[in-house]
Amino acid sequence: VNGLLRPMSWLMQRHGVDADPRFRRFVDEQMLISTQSTSEHAPYLTGAMGLTYPSETYYPVGGMYVPAVQLLRHITKHGGEVKFRRRVTSVVRRPSSNEHRTSDAGRWTVTCANGETYEAQNVISSIPIWNMQHLTTERVADHYAQLSKRFNFSWSALTMYMALEQQPELPAPYIQMHLDEPIDGVDSRSLFLSMSMPGDEKKAPGGHCTVTVSTHTKGNWEQGTGNREWGMRKELVMKKMLEAIRRRMPEIDLDRMVHLEGGTPETWVKYTSRYRGFVGGIPHTTKRSMLSMPKNVTPFRGLYQIGDSAFPGQGTPAVILGAWNTVARIFAS
Ligand SMILES: Cc1cc2nc3c(=O)[nH]c(=O)nc-3n(C[C@H](O)[C@H](O)[C@H](O)COP(=O)(O)OP(=O)(O)OC[C@H]3O[C@@H](n4cnc5c(N)ncnc54)[C@H](O)[C@@H]3O)c2cc1C
Repeated sequence: VNGLLRPMSWLMQRHGVDADPRFRRFVDEQMLISTQSTSEHAPYLTGAMGLTYPSETYYPVGGMYVPAVQLLRHITKHGGEVKFRRRVTSVVRRPSSNEHRTSDAGRWTVTCANGETYEAQNVISSIPIWNMQHLTTERVADHYAQLSKRFNFSWSALTMYMALEQQPELPAPYIQMHLDEPIDGVDSRSLFLSMSMPGDEKKAPGGHCTVTVSTHTKGNWEQGTGNREWGMRKELVMKKMLEAIRRRMPEIDLDRMVHLEGGTPETWVKYTSRYRGFVGGIPHTTKRSMLSMPKNVTPFRGLYQIGDSAFPGQGTPAVILGAWNTVARIFAS
């Protein structure tokens, strides 16, 4: 329990490893990409796990698309059905006709933007809590509104997707590059680069390489969406990120870049519908420990909440664990 209540900075001080500002900064940047908090706020238990990132991070040949396809095949093989391109517009509980059951006992109706409706006794939502408050009604909406008020911050991300006609010689496919000067609009002090591995021809043909660059930003970019000022801001921040890579990583030859795209919080809103482009889940902090996160079991019978805005938090392994536990709980009941 101490590990959830004391911050990483406390542990560092206790062991006398907090004096070197460069080391503190390294730990802070590691904490930020793993726990979404810096050492002053990150609990040392989750922080310790975060410090190991990205060791034991598997490289999916062909990109993140491949594990998703494997999951899809597993579901269909076992009789499940996956429906794409359906935007859920409401999740509403139908009143129960059985007087002896509690008012929470009715079946759930999920409505999609294309007019389809689905009814079920149990609904597991992986749509974030901030969106759920707008998809539900009455007490359920109040519940999600309260959670959204309590957990009112999540990071968003700035990203760049490039293709190079080059295979840079680097010690690892994942690089955390510390910035030598701050970039306006970037709220962390590092960029994270993920490179395609040599030989992964599903991602990049021979002699080429893909590089994904990501960093933290606060999700307030939607002001001025689509207007000229917003477009210029995106161009400027991308230019600064590219300049930093050129200065700090001579291994990457940007003159051999053959493709470049950028993403802002607004891009996340557009492509994932996530409220304000919140893609960082709920940060782990000592003030709000993992145990106080929104629960997988909601107060409403048959409605479950998973994903990075619920226990046990963000990151693919944590999100999968939350889903796994929730399904096990439903089958056990
Ligand atoms: C730049 C970046 C790098 C990352 N790197 C790593 C990493 O290296 N390792 C790691 O473990 N984690 C990483 N993460 C975190 C990881 O991606 C997330 O924790 C994880 O994807 C969260 O899963 P989720 O199911 O909660 O949310 P999501 O993956 O966002 O899935 C939620 C889905 O719900 C859909 N949705 C939303 N609203 C609706 C609606 N109304 N109707 C229908 N569908 C809807 C969205 O479109 C989305 O597809 C990274 C995240 C970012 C942003």
